[in-house]
Amino acid sequence: MFDSLKNKFSGLVDGVSSKKITEKDLNKILEDFELSLLESDVSMKVSEKIVNELKKKLTGEKISLTSNKKDFVKIAVEETLTEILEYKKYDIFKEIEKKRKAGEIFSIAFVGFNGTGKTTTIAKFGKLLSDKGYKVVIAASDTFRAGSIEQLCLHAEKIGIKVIKHNYGADPAAVAFDAINHAKARGIDVVLIDTAGRSEMNRNLMDEMKKLIRVSNPNMKIFVGDSLAGNAVAEQAEKFSEIGLDGSILTKVDADSRGGAALSISYITEKPILFIGTGQGYDDLEPFDPKWLVERILP
Ligand code: GDP
Ligand code: GDP
Repeated sequence: MFDSLKNKFSGLVDGVSSKKITEKDLNKILEDFELSLLESDVSMKVSEKIVNELKKKLTGEKISLTSNKKDFVKIAVEETLTEILEYKKYDIFKEIEKKRKAGEIFSIAFVGFNGTGKTTTIAKFGKLLSDKGYKVVIAASDTFRAGSIEQLCLHAEKIGIKVIKHNYGADPAAVAFDAINHAKARGIDVVLIDTAGRSEMNRNLMDEMKKLIRVSNPNMKIFVGDSLAGNAVAEQAEKFSEIGLDGSILTKVDADSRGGAALSISYITEKPILFIGTGQGYDDLEPFDPKWLVERILP
């Protein structure tokens, strides 16, 4: 996992730790490094940020004063990556429990591009909550993509969760509203709202999404990003930030050999990655730990 990124950072550490290095050498190495990060799906903005931070930490003077250059560079890399990945911790289960104790509903809107694994992720999260003893309902607010409602119902049936649905073409906000009312009437704890996968070209879909958010006023808006989507995931994260995201879930991490998507999403949304998807099964959802990723990227 993440071999590509790890190789790039190993190369950097070896390059900078080589016997004599001038300011000019360092700049050249970091310039090349910036380009190599792009190859590992680290977006332009994040690559720039990483290189600028490393430049600050690795100025010639500081390096020449240390005896163990290799460790010095490694520490600089570790600090930089951790800074990018670590946002204020958000304990979603604690927040849900708080609401439940107060007799209130916790609602989450899941947003993201088609094919990222959004529907599967909702099912995984729903199952996780059910396993913890919460009562869950899902709102089929993707009334746009053909087959989306059936697909969602199929997942929901397998994990034993009810879906509130209307017909295709119905107002997604109305579906979410109904699901929340249903939850209130039946003492359900959590409402998970599926939404249509937007592309930035689809302005009207984005407006529809904003209406859904306005009407259902979810406690959280979670961006679901595909770690295999390459640089596109950074653009998507940026686009969806418009609605004010609270966190992300990164899918298909089990199949990702590059590792850049997590850095990009974290930096762009400025919100924590809450979970990672690690397979196609309903139990393949794990809490995300920045340290876990940094350890895998570090040389
Ligand atoms: P949606 O269009 O965003 O709702 O995407 P789906 O939930 O239908 O998922 C698209 C495909 O990605 C399906 O084949 C899922 O099984 C697969 N998928 C979702 N999450 C993961 C994951 O974490 N790992 C792997 N390997 N596959 C996943
Ligand atoms: P995407 O192309 O992967 O973003 O998939 P979408 O599901 O967002 O869009 C699928 C198709 O529907 C595209 O060809 C869009 O041009 C078209 N489309 C986009 N927005 C709308 C809309 O609000 N209503 C309708 N009827 N079609 C739309």
